[in-house]
Amino acid sequence: MKKFHYRLILSFYIVSLIAILAMGSAIIYNLKIGAENETLINTTAVITFITAIVLSIVSIIIAIISYKKSIIPMAKMLDSSSYDSDNKFDISKNDKDDLSELATELHNKLIEANRRINQTETILQHMTDGVISFDMDGNVTYINPEAKDLLELKDTDNTFNKIFDKYRDVDNMEKIIYLEDWTSSEKKVTNNRGSMDLFFVAFKDEINRPTGLMVVVQDITEHVKLDNMRKEFVADVSHELKTPLTSIEGFSETLLDGVDDKETQEHFLHIINDNAIRMQKLVQDLLTLSKYDSKRNMGPKTKFDLGELSKSCAEKFEIEVKKKGQHLQCITTADVPPVYADKDGIERVIINIISNSVKYTQDGGTIDVYVGYVHDDAYVKIKDNGIGIPKADLQRIYERFYRVDKARSRQLGGTGLGLSIAKEIIEQNDGSINISSETGSSKHGTEVIVKIPVAKE
Ligand code: ADP
Repeated sequence: MKKFHYRLILSFYIVSLIAILAMGSAIIYNLKIGAENETLINTTAVITFITAIVLSIVSIIIAIISYKKSIIPMAKMLDSSSYDSDNKFDISKNDKDDLSELATELHNKLIEANRRINQTETILQHMTDGVISFDMDGNVTYINPEAKDLLELKDTDNTFNKIFDKYRDVDNMEKIIYLEDWTSSEKKVTNNRGSMDLFFVAFKDEINRPTGLMVVVQDITEHVKLDNMRKEFVADVSHELKTPLTSIEGFSETLLDGVDDKETQEHFLHIINDNAIRMQKLVQDLLTLSKYDSKRNMGPKTKFDLGELSKSCAEKFEIEVKKKGQHLQCITTADVPPVYADKDGIERVIINIISNSVKYTQDGGTIDVYVGYVHDDAYVKIKDNGIGIPKADLQRIYERFYRVDKARSRQLGGTGLGLSIAKEIIEQNDGSINISSETGSSKHGTEVIVKIPVAKE
């Protein structure tokens, strides 16, 4: 900067000098060409000389004034700034410090902003919910992989209409955004993947004008399934309780109306009693199920001999088996180490499985109970040559109230809860239960294997 105002002053001096030289040249020229009129020459020379002097002085004054009026303030304004030898803008040390501090701050802010963008991107990429954002024209501006998966989208599905047109319940984008007082809305839709919950949220600017739309997609398939199961369960319980209650009500009313025949009276009373027992068994099973469901009051785990327990369970069926002319035996096939589990729970499971075998095996059939040990697990295998379970029903056998033949099960005193309770108990004891079955063929029958971990040393 300093060099600049030196140059300015210098240029004024040069201009003054050129003016003096010009005037001098004019005098010499006049001297040469006009020798005849000496007075005129002298007068011209004097005037030219004075003009040159005056011009020089004026130039110097202008230079000084301009230096004071503009160069000094400019220099002051730019203070310590100047141009370096390469004519590049040079910055003082203080400014340099300030600027580098500013640059560092900016750099750090950029790194922080980038870090946040990456973080958000990672979260969105790995979220279990789908996220899609749209601009005001309905074009997709962001979509995460989960959204593509949940809504079964192709790369060409890149607008709001292409994505949501197939769902009749979803309004068009303008309607969603411009709905009065609208901030967010929710819609439930179903596709081949299952049930989805869609949340629509508008992006707004500082004056509350919509600038786009975000859609969050949540997979609620499991939730819907559980909800349906709960509804079905309530309906099943009501139904199971209603049937014996209706029977009790009907027969007791008939008795109250007066039945003279003693035999009929006794028969009706037996029916009432059977139904009351059935209801009690059902309520008892429901309570057991709820106990294991909520993991409340699960019996304490202890070390016990699975062979001995299985034997005592089998003995409980002696009278029933004898009545049906069945053959029931319990064999321990290997040296089985003690298991570590909830003994009462396991006893309940073994009794239920043997009871099913006795119930669903024809008179004269056989039921074998084997206890053994394989790969750190003790097992009990209950095998019968009964009616078997059809393949289609096998996968639903652990569902609450599921029975292959409802009437038959009821008649035999079943509630349809036995195997679901068994599965719950075995899983809570870190074991497993597997059922295989054959129907129709000569090899018909059912085999249930329950594995329980042995106690660690
Ligand atoms: P239930 O109280 O009706 O016996 P479970 O849950 O114990 O209920 O069993 C469910 C259904 O599985 C039964 O209703 C029956 O149809 C079938 N089932 C279970 N065990 C056997 C078996 N050993 N042989 C044939 N069917 C069986």
